[in-house]
Amino acid sequence: MHTEQRFNNLDRFRLIAALLVIAIHTSPLVSFSSEADFFLTGILARIAVPFFLMVTGQFVVSGFLFPGSESPKAPFRYLRKMGILYVSAILLYLPLGIYAGHYTQLSILGIFRMLLFDGTFYHLWYFPACILGIMLLYGMHRFLKMKCNSLFFICGLLYILGLLGDSYYGLIADLPVIGDIYSALFLISSYTRNGLFLAPLFLLMGAWMGEKYPCSVTKCHKGKKSMPGFSLFCFALSLLAMTTEGFVLRYFSLQRHDSMYLLLPLTMFFLYQFLLQCKASPKHRIKPFSCCQNLRAVSTWIYLLHPAVIVVVRGIAKVLHATNLFVENSIVHYLAVTVLTIPAAIFAAISVRMLTARFSRKAPSRSRAWIELDMDALAQNVRFLRSRLREGCELMPVVKAEAYGHDSVLISRELNRLGIHSFCVACVTEGITLRKNGITGEILILGYTHPDQFPLLHRYHLTQTVVDYAYALLLNQYIESVQEKIHVHIGVDTGMHRLGERCENIDQICAIYKMPNLIVDGIFTHLSSDDTMNPQDIAFTEEQAASFNLLLQELCRCGCPHSKFHLLASYGVLNYPEFCGNYARIGIALYGVLSTKADTDMWVDFLHPVLTLKARVASIRTLYEGEAAGYGMGFTATRNMKIATLSIGYADGLPRMLSNGTGSVLIQGHRAPIIGKICMDQTIVDVSCIPDIKAGDIAILIGKSGEKSISASEIAEQCDTITNEILSRLGQRLEHISINNFK
Ligand SMILES: *Cc1c(COP(=O)(O)O)cnc(C)c1O
Repeated sequence: MHTEQRFNNLDRFRLIAALLVIAIHTSPLVSFSSEADFFLTGILARIAVPFFLMVTGQFVVSGFLFPGSESPKAPFRYLRKMGILYVSAILLYLPLGIYAGHYTQLSILGIFRMLLFDGTFYHLWYFPACILGIMLLYGMHRFLKMKCNSLFFICGLLYILGLLGDSYYGLIADLPVIGDIYSALFLISSYTRNGLFLAPLFLLMGAWMGEKYPCSVTKCHKGKKSMPGFSLFCFALSLLAMTTEGFVLRYFSLQRHDSMYLLLPLTMFFLYQFLLQCKASPKHRIKPFSCCQNLRAVSTWIYLLHPAVIVVVRGIAKVLHATNLFVENSIVHYLAVTVLTIPAAIFAAISVRMLTARFSRKAPSRSRAWIELDMDALAQNVRFLRSRLREGCELMPVVKAEAYGHDSVLISRELNRLGIHSFCVACVTEGITLRKNGITGEILILGYTHPDQFPLLHRYHLTQTVVDYAYALLLNQYIESVQEKIHVHIGVDTGMHRLGERCENIDQICAIYKMPNLIVDGIFTHLSSDDTMNPQDIAFTEEQAASFNLLLQELCRCGCPHSKFHLLASYGVLNYPEFCGNYARIGIALYGVLSTKADTDMWVDFLHPVLTLKARVASIRTLYEGEAAGYGMGFTATRNMKIATLSIGYADGLPRMLSNGTGSVLIQGHRAPIIGKICMDQTIVDVSCIPDIKAGDIAILIGKSGEKSISASEIAEQCDTITNEILSRLGQRLEHISINNFK
C-alpha cells in the first residue's frame, strides 16, 4: 500500500505545505489587498497543518488502528520522537520567547496552557496538538475499544465543537451558558485549533485513507480504479466552496480565528485522495530513497525554523535601514524569509543527519566485512506485502537460512516489533535459535525433524510440518511423559512432489486430523511455478490451487475440524493475491528483492532491498605492467595500475564466479572491477580510476554508493543463479548491523 511513488507525492506536498505555513506567518499579500491576503493565509494555507496531521495519521495512527498492521509499540516510538523534537524546539525558541516577552507574568495555568495547547512560541502548538491527538485516538481505540466508525463520530463531534470556538465563534459567543463555557475554555487553550478539537479528525482521516486507497499500480487491487483527475477537480470545487464559506464568515464577522472551516475536512479528503492516487511520470520520480527522506526532514525544519528567520530578517532590515522594503513590502518580506529559511533548513537537516549518523551507528569500523540491514526498508516491505493480502490473511515471514543471509535473529526481532507473530524456518535448530533470542509467536518448521529431536519441539514450542502420512504416524507415536501434544501443520503435495502428503489421499489426511497426539493448527501446500506468467505455468498453478481447495472442501465434508490454511510464498502474493489463505509464507520479497533481476526491477518501486554488503579496503598497491596478481597469476597488468585488496572472499559468500572482471564493487561511487581469482578471504579490485582511495576505505559489494548500485539480483544473474542462493550463502563470519535511520 505504501509505495515509494506515494511517498514521493506526499513528500513533495510537504514542502508546499511548509511554504504555506511561512505564508500564514508573514502574510505575503497584505500590502496589496486584505482580501487576497485573507484568501491566501486565512483559507488556502489552512490546508497545510491538516495535511501534516493526515500524513502523521497515515503512518502512525494506522499502526494501531487497523488489525494486523503495525506493532502496538509503534505510536510510542513516534510520540517519543515527537516529544524530543518538541522539547528541542522549546529550548531553541526560549531566547526568542524571552526577548519577545512571552514568558513574563506566567501563571501556573499559563504554563500549562503553553505546554499542552498553545506551544511556547506561536508555531509550536503543532507538536503538542499532534501528540495529544495521537494519544486521544490511541486511548479511545485501546481502552474504549472504539473502531473506525465510532472514532469518526467522536472526532467529527470534537471538530464541530472546535469550529464553534474558531470560525463560527460569532454564532455562540453571546449565548448565555455556551458562551461562558467557551470563555472558560479559552483560559486553558487560547484557540480551539489544538490537539483536542482539530488534530484527532485529521489524524484519523489520514490513517483511514492510507488503508482505503491502496497503491495505484494496476497490478495490485485490480478492481479499484483510481481517478486522480477527478479527485483534483473535486478538490478545486471544495476549495472554492470553502473560500465562499470563509468570505461569508468574514463578511458577518463571525470568526474568532480562521483555522477551521466546515468544508476543510472535505477539501482535505479530496486533496489527499489526489496525492495518493496521482502517479508522477517516471521522469519526475524522486528516485533515491534518501531524497524523499531529505524532503521530509527539510520541510520539518522549514516549519521549525521560519519564525526565527522572520526575526532575523526584521533584524537585518533594521540594521540596513531597509525596513520599508524587507518588512513593509509583504511579498518581499515573504520571499526574503523563504529564501533564507530553505538553506537554513537544508543545513539543519544535513547537520542533524550527520550527527545522528555519527552517534547512532555502532562502529562498524573495526570489521573487515559486514552486512548492514536497513530496518526501515524491511518495515516498508512489510507494509507493502500486507497491503496485498486479503482480510484474514497474515504474513508468516520465512526466516530460514539466517533470514536468507540477513541474520534471522535481528530480522525476526524487528518483525516481532512490527507486530508479526508467526514465522517459518527450515529446521529445528533454526527455531531454537529464534526462541533462545526471545522471538515470540508461532514458529513453523517447514522441513524434516528427526524423531530423536521431537522433545525439542515441546521444549521450544515449535510447530512441525507433517511431511507425509508415514511421518505423521511417527509424530503421533511420540508421547512425552508430560503428555503434551505436538502442534503441526500438515504439508500437502499438490504437484511439486517435494514434501507433503499427496492431495488425493484424503483418507490419510483425514486420519492425521484424528491422531490423538497431534494438534493440527494448519494445512498448507507450496506452489512450484508461480513465478512466471506464461500460460502453461498459470494453468499449472491454478490447478494446484484448485486441488488444494477441493481437498479443503473434502476435509470439511469428512468432518475434520477447521484449521488455518496457506499456500502462497513471495511470488504467490505478487502474482496470485486472490489465493490468499490465512497465512502468506513470504521469504525473498520481504528482503526487498526477487529471485531474478527482471522481477526485482519490475517491483523496484514497492520492494526495498534490506541488505547492504560492505568490506574494508585492506591495502592499496601498484601493479606494474606485466606483473600478475592473485592465485595462478590469474590477472596480468597490461599497463601500470593501482589495485586494492578487499578483506572479503568466497568464504564470506562472495561467489567465486565473479572473478576475472565478471563482478565489480563500488568505492566512493566508482565501479572497481574484480581482477584475478577471488580468494577465500580476500579479493583484488582495479582502482586505477579512483584517485584518492586509501586503505581503510569501504567497498560496497551489494548496495548503493553515490549514484551507482549493485543489486544481489544482478550478482545472481552474473552467476547464473537466483538471488535467493546468493543471499542465503552469505557467510556467518560477516558482522550484522541493523540500521534504523528514520525512527
Ligand atoms: C522457502 C519457502 C517459502 C518462501 O519462499 P519465497 O519464495 O522465498 O517467498 C515458502 N514456503 C515454503 C514451503 C518454503 O520452503
